Amino acid sequence: MAEDRDNNEFTKVCYMCRRSESKAGPMVDMPGGICMCHDCLQKSIDQAVKMTGALPPEVQAELLRMSGAPVRRPEKQEVQKAEDPEKLEGEVVEGDEETPEAEQNSSPFGFSMVLSPEDIQQMIGRRTNTKSVKKKSEPQKIDIKKIPKPNKIYEMLSDYVVGQEKAKKAISVAIYNHYKRLANEDKDIEIEKSNMLMIGPTGSGKTFLVQTLARLLDVPLAIADATALTEAGYIGDDIESVVTKLLAAAGNDVKKCETGIIYIDEIDKLARKRNATQRDVSGESVQQGLLKLLEGAEIEVPVGANSKNAMVPLENVNTKNILFICGGAFPDLEDIIKERLNEKSSMGFGADLKDKYEHEKDILKYVETEDLRKFGMIPEFIGRMPVVFTLSPMTEDMLIRVLKEPKNAIIKQYQKLLQMDEVDLQFTEDAYEAIAKKALKKDTGARGLRSIIESFMMDIMFEIPKDENIGRVTITGDYVNGKGGPVIEMRG
Ligand code: ADP
Repeated sequence: MAEDRDNNEFTKVCYMCRRSESKAGPMVDMPGGICMCHDCLQKSIDQAVKMTGALPPEVQAELLRMSGAPVRRPEKQEVQKAEDPEKLEGEVVEGDEETPEAEQNSSPFGFSMVLSPEDIQQMIGRRTNTKSVKKKSEPQKIDIKKIPKPNKIYEMLSDYVVGQEKAKKAISVAIYNHYKRLANEDKDIEIEKSNMLMIGPTGSGKTFLVQTLARLLDVPLAIADATALTEAGYIGDDIESVVTKLLAAAGNDVKKCETGIIYIDEIDKLARKRNATQRDVSGESVQQGLLKLLEGAEIEVPVGANSKNAMVPLENVNTKNILFICGGAFPDLEDIIKERLNEKSSMGFGADLKDKYEHEKDILKYVETEDLRKFGMIPEFIGRMPVVFTLSPMTEDMLIRVLKEPKNAIIKQYQKLLQMDEVDLQFTEDAYEAIAKKALKKDTGARGLRSIIESFMMDIMFEIPKDENIGRVTITGDYVNGKGGPVIEMRG
């Protein structure tokens, strides 16, 4: 065999590291005419183990044998083992060690063995049944009586989300209908899926609304960013990766995943590019690619990894009952809506109403599918989003409420932190106003609040615990605006 190798005019080169056999040692032949050195094979296995959890011992042993120790090709004995495992168990163990026969079969370099596609399939197949993938649980029967009614969902949401009444109502009804649809066993009347499209400026609470909903209802939620998605085969995240995320969020439980929620943020970035001369792999094509997921399709999802490869087990997930919620700021949509509204009002008797919407603050609430189409969303996509609702921009009043009212409001969090040092933290009304005004200037909605508060709370959190005599700290509007310090009162 060694002679054969010497006479062979082709040197084997590792498919991964490109080192030749003389440098990397004997190669393992893989299907498709490629070969891999032991180092690279081991690395791939290590990587796969890291990603998917421990492999069962028998697979580990088999892979180890392949990557290092001289091994002989399993032949008759193991075939027999499959037929009669008890009888031949001892013999196979024996066969694992170096027998004279095995020495004959192996090359002087160690070994050279060909992995058949069946071998690989078997290894991967066995791993698919390991701990990392929970067995498909029985489809849960949904008892509609146990699902909170829309008004209850609305109340629960209101504990955390300030304002946005219309959005909270729409989402409560849509989620209730979604569960009704899952509970519906009437084959004649199939209820349509209530995928949602949320339109609202940045920091108005779109993501927060979905997060709160998923937490309250205890359903798995995956949040994906549409800007990272590209058509399959291009650099970026594959469209199906959103389902991979959901499977991970469901703890690899396929059944749980199949009734979860996927939130796709920044959906407006997928709008068809105007005057595009090249193929639009991250815009319109992604919209096209999402269609089948929105509608419901059976897709193969890698478990414990972001991309499909030979070392990662795959699971079939049906997206039919996954609720898709898309959200975006749709920046130029306001102009499109205004244009349409003004066009309408400038016709006939209403001509004098022209530009009446010019100073309207919340113009988004007049959105129609026609506007979304003009914006660049494809009709098929809009058609699969039957529930469309808008969130209003944050006003100063709303921002003050965000500071004070939610169950876990930022101010309440700071008060709790200082309470642990037995210090009472208070804010004056003008302090709230000053913070809200600063946030409005930033134009990032409620998102800017935390960083504004953190900028001045840092000193307080640093200084106050030092002095045990301090009993109360009051933050004033002046202090927020950088004039003077907070009002400090001593104990007793
Ligand atoms: P976006 O609309 O850009 O997705 P987010 O939902 O991410 O905005 O909001 C950012 C943060 O602002 C949230 O984590 C939440 O703390 C706060 N927030 C936004 N809107 C509200 C709201 N209506 N009620 C309470 N908090 C809110």
